[in-house]
Amino acid sequence: MSFAQAFPLVSQLPNGASGASKQQNFGPDLSVRLICPDCRDPNPKIVEEFGSGDLVCGDCGLVLGDRIVDTRSEWRTFANDDGDDPSRVGAASNPLLDGLDQLDTMISFKDGGSGMARELQRTASKSTAAKTERNLLSAFRDIGNMCDSINLPKAIADIAKQLYKRTDEEKILRGKSTDAIVACCIFIACRQGNVPRSFKEICQLTRVPKKIIGQCFKVIEQAFNLTARPTNGQATNGGSAQPAGGASTGTSAEDLLARYCNYLDLHPTVQSVCRDVVLNAREHSIAQGRSPVSIAGGAILFTTQLLGKNKQVKDISQVAGVSESTIKLVYRLFCAAKEQLVNPEWLESGKADFSRLSAVDGPKVA
Ligand SMILES: [Zn+2]
Repeated sequence: MSFAQAFPLVSQLPNGASGASKQQNFGPDLSVRLICPDCRDPNPKIVEEFGSGDLVCGDCGLVLGDRIVDTRSEWRTFANDDGDDPSRVGAASNPLLDGLDQLDTMISFKDGGSGMARELQRTASKSTAAKTERNLLSAFRDIGNMCDSINLPKAIADIAKQLYKRTDEEKILRGKSTDAIVACCIFIACRQGNVPRSFKEICQLTRVPKKIIGQCFKVIEQAFNLTARPTNGQATNGGSAQPAGGASTGTSAEDLLARYCNYLDLHPTVQSVCRDVVLNAREHSIAQGRSPVSIAGGAILFTTQLLGKNKQVKDISQVAGVSESTIKLVYRLFCAAKEQLVNPEWLESGKADFSRLSAVDGPKVA
């Protein structure tokens, strides 16, 4: 069985009508039946003779095939005792390690003092096949550990691993350090899984400079055409909040809000108001060109002030990973256009109040 290639290269994608010439998948032909050519019985009695490795017709004794594989378990099962049948050997195969030797050879240390074991081990460790495998495995381990450390689910880690493997196979980031590629893969995986993390967060996690991640990101994005694809088959029309202009195919401010508001221990209603503020701001092109994190930070400060929730600029700055002055700057831009940002019904219900918006110090808006 074969599956469509994950993260196909742009250069290999069929151009022209999208989806019309879909890659053909092959599977086993289930209509094939094995019958004895002598008896031609539609319900053949075919016997597998494991002792001799032959496939025999039970009626006439004709040998239909030889060298059949014995698929029975290698030991006697005590299924009644344990409750489960251990007739399968080894761990489930890992599709991420497809094509690699998943069966390892271990060389014993015991050689009766002849020194042969050490020689053999040195030779085994030099083999190049083992080296690429080791690199891939260690990268997978890094991705797993890092995703665990910021509580990302396994699905995200798997996307990152798959992307890393594809990058490795196509050799599109030759010369970049493994750390950089790993960082970039996690970044993209978060986006694809709709749990975006900012470059800054990935930098903190992986200790790879933002510039390097950015460089890798551009290369991978172009090679696999990541922006054009809807994330993991989810319909793009479903997300009505997406801007029509395509200004942010990647991380947008409202994607970040939920997480930031959670970290700040804000009520979901505050979060939804905050979201509306961000969407209104985009509609009226307020604070345009600012990064999503700055807009998210500024919007949280604006909303909390508006709703009379006391949150320190310092705390927001820490959560969003943006400087206080940037947050204040966006905040002042929002204050200047407050009539456009605030829905009238919030004011009528008394939930929001312009008088709560306090002036913040800091550099003047250029
Ligand atoms: Zn027969």
